[in-house]
Amino acid sequence: MEYQNRQPEEGINTPGRHPLAEFIRLSIAALVALLLLGLLLNLAGGHLAGLIPYRAELWVTEKIDRMLVEAGEPSPFTIAESDTPLIEYLNTLGDKVEAALEMQSPMTIQLHYSDEDVVNAFATLGGHVYLYKGLLKQLPHENALTMLLAHEYSHVQMRHALRGVGGGLAVAFGAAVLPGGSGVNGRLYSLTSSLSSLNFSREMETDADKNGLKAVNAIYGHTAGADDLFELFMAQRDSAGAGALDGFFSTHPLDKDRIEALGRVSGEHGWFSEGATTPLPDAFLQWLDAAD
Ligand SMILES: [Zn+2]
Repeated sequence: MEYQNRQPEEGINTPGRHPLAEFIRLSIAALVALLLLGLLLNLAGGHLAGLIPYRAELWVTEKIDRMLVEAGEPSPFTIAESDTPLIEYLNTLGDKVEAALEMQSPMTIQLHYSDEDVVNAFATLGGHVYLYKGLLKQLPHENALTMLLAHEYSHVQMRHALRGVGGGLAVAFGAAVLPGGSGVNGRLYSLTSSLSSLNFSREMETDADKNGLKAVNAIYGHTAGADDLFELFMAQRDSAGAGALDGFFSTHPLDKDRIEALGRVSGEHGWFSEGATTPLPDAFLQWLDAAD
């Protein structure tokens, strides 16, 4: 038997494709896999977070609040002690909304008013709901304000903030265990957490609209005027251009779609969509200017 030192055939280690094309193909595949993994983690994290008892959510926000206050930092979770006529009025209306939505203890809302001239309102962890002067001053009547409150309260009731944060944390965890620089992970985390804690998915927005409309109907006996809130956004968008609008609008479904959806929900439940709207208190605009 004779052994030979045979040369391997030419080209067995190189695919027939151009190396750059191969690199791009693999990069795209890796990106798609990462995105899918991220989506999956986001869903799973959001679902798991939704199972956390509300008391635990409260405990965490109180803890964060204490830490921020001790560090001398502004905290979104500090309970605003205010007895201005505006806050009293908002809380009275808010109590009606809580009752109409059948929100139960320990789930309660902490309303915050900011006199910043931005067209925004949002709900965050622990039942903290923020209302801005820039939006409140444009409301045409109380029914639209009730719809706004009911929409934000619905985010709290449906645990949207916590589910968003849970999804973001799961993605951050996934990013942390993958090889890569911590700077990238840090940036990814702040991106996902800021995206998910305050900007809800379109599905969440639609759910909050539908749930909120129930409160408007329960309080006034009809749903008329609820859609004026979205007419206001539409007018605002037209006059200011999309870039000038703040957080409330960025992931919200298109105003027209929302108005149509509200009409459908009213019809499905057999609610009256016509009726007289209730005016805001005469001093409402003065209150907005006076309160801090
Ligand atoms: Zn919303």
